[in-house]
Amino acid sequence: MQAKIAKHAGFCAGVRRAVKIAEGTVNEWERWYSLGPLVHNHAVINYFTEKGISSIERLDEITAEDCGVIIRAHGTTPDIVHQAEVQGLKIKDATCHLVKRVHEIVASLRGEAYEIVVFGDANHPEVQGIVGWSDNTAIVVASPAEACEIKPVNKLGIISQTTKDEKDFFEVVNALLHKSKEIRVFNTICSATKLRQQAARELCREVDLMLVVGDQMSSNTATLKRECATTGVPSYQIQDASELESEWFKGISTVGITAGASTPDWIIKEVLDRMTEYEENQDTNQENEDTNQENQGNEELFAKMEAEMAEYKTPSRGDVIKGTVIQVLDDEVMVDVGGKSEGIIPLREMSLQDVDSAKELVNVGDEIEVLVLKWDDDGTILLSKKKVDSKKVLDELEKDYNNDNVLEGTVTGSVKGGLLVDVGITAFLPASHVDDGYVKNLDDFVGQTLKFKIIEFNRNKRRGSQIVVSRRELVVEEKERLKKEFWETIEEGQTRTGKVKRIVDYGAFIDLGGFEGLLHVSEIDHKRVEHPADVLTEGQELDVFILGLDREKSRVSLSRKKLLKSPWEIALEKYHEGDIIDGTVVRIAPFGAFVEIDPGVDGLVHISQLANHRVEKPEDVVSVKDEIKVKVISIDPEGKRIGLSLKEALNDAEQEEVEEYLESQDDNTDY
Ligand code: SF4
Repeated sequence: MQAKIAKHAGFCAGVRRAVKIAEGTVNEWERWYSLGPLVHNHAVINYFTEKGISSIERLDEITAEDCGVIIRAHGTTPDIVHQAEVQGLKIKDATCHLVKRVHEIVASLRGEAYEIVVFGDANHPEVQGIVGWSDNTAIVVASPAEACEIKPVNKLGIISQTTKDEKDFFEVVNALLHKSKEIRVFNTICSATKLRQQAARELCREVDLMLVVGDQMSSNTATLKRECATTGVPSYQIQDASELESEWFKGISTVGITAGASTPDWIIKEVLDRMTEYEENQDTNQENEDTNQENQGNEELFAKMEAEMAEYKTPSRGDVIKGTVIQVLDDEVMVDVGGKSEGIIPLREMSLQDVDSAKELVNVGDEIEVLVLKWDDDGTILLSKKKVDSKKVLDELEKDYNNDNVLEGTVTGSVKGGLLVDVGITAFLPASHVDDGYVKNLDDFVGQTLKFKIIEFNRNKRRGSQIVVSRRELVVEEKERLKKEFWETIEEGQTRTGKVKRIVDYGAFIDLGGFEGLLHVSEIDHKRVEHPADVLTEGQELDVFILGLDREKSRVSLSRKKLLKSPWEIALEKYHEGDIIDGTVVRIAPFGAFVEIDPGVDGLVHISQLANHRVEKPEDVVSVKDEIKVKVISIDPEGKRIGLSLKEALNDAEQEEVEEYLESQDDNTDY
């Protein structure tokens, strides 16, 4: 007969912690009591009674002085804690931290005026404790039918006893969905219970018979038994080895064993030992090879279990160990780290990055490496994933440092004297290493992903950054590369896109991506530009014409003007013969007046075109700065000449007036 033990069976983290806390009181000089049975297991209770820790139902049973009370893993109400304080009792709180979390949720829902429904057994001490945290207002329902009886409310919060079945909980939630417009549901079912149920169901597929080891008063053991029975495999619940019956094993070749969360390992082992005894008795006269092999398998199983129970090396502070994620909450993760030990990773120890919830990082079942930070007095192992990740990242970065590798990082913020860069962990980039020159505004780099080299690496540094990075050398190298590429490809007459780097009185330096060229003020526009800053701004992108190259002196002269239409070209497109346009007299000559019709574009009103009468001197008709209307009478694109007439413009205007007058006369004769 072969025996198989479920992957998850026996003491859960909460019970193990409570037992550890109780064991810690054994040698203390005060007399300690547990408020209610420490765990739902007679054998464990008897063990502690023998050690002097007796179980009481009410605090007023304690009359002696110098006593203390242990609050068991199920937790209790705030009133009872208060009463213990008033009585002057010492308190050791072994409430499972998952149950404590339920207390917090309930207190918070109560504070926000939610009506609270607890799915669970009203007589269970955990549920009674939970209800206490709702100022005794929470309603306990044991089934969907009971949930249906609840009256509709404004705001409803639903939670579960930690050891309940998830499917049943969701059925209760379903029954409550129409009871309120605002419902908050917290799945507070503990994964220890879920994992034990899941492992038991899986094991049922491989065995002919299941033994569920656990106390009759243990609710989660009862659930386990039910789960096993529903698979169709014959299942028996026993409290200890004495309840085994040899009859059960007749014709059975494989037996599965699981145990509730309050069953200690030594009871499971006793069950295994007793089964072997049965087998030995049955096999006295049978020496067939198969049986020998099965016995050998069982011996291996015992040995493995004993190793787990007795020889398992308790991880020490600083050890890096592997574990399986068994519960993920927003602010902490519970990890099974082998040897039936479970540890907690607080959110702050989960990741090198800032995240809002641990659910963004891991899932139940994930295998992760963790570092043991410390054992709390209460037996909880405090773990860090961040420190393991950090070590791995540092190992990689050390290689990069030793090999002078280039690495990528994102600038995450600025601090005094430099920038912070995420290169897996946060490194420091001194201001003098940000670029190859002075950087006016470091904040411009925040959010950018850039390339760096590590210039300082010290993993033992306690203050300041362990890693200092620089991009100065890389910037210089990149500029050299671009410069070389620039001179290899640049030709006079090309049009290139550049960026205004610096503006000076005589022009602007344009970064052409590897090299800077000068755009002289006279080459900025066809119009006269007083100062380059009137037209250009630093950082502006623009197209420039390569006007001249001096490879020896590494100089490039640029023109913007060449790529722009000249005022003449614009005027020639814009004006046509016969157009009446506005202009300003800018100069007078003996043969006529020059009129500016567009900035930089003058036309000539010949003296003969100034008036209908003979004009002796142009000054007799117009003066400089006069704003006048002129008619375009000729355009010479080749000679860039525009002939204008003031006389014709006036004649046309008069003619228009006459026509308008005559038209108005026609309209008046209509009546
Ligand atoms: S079953 Fe879960 S909630 Fe209950 S004591 Fe164990 S770990 Fe805590």
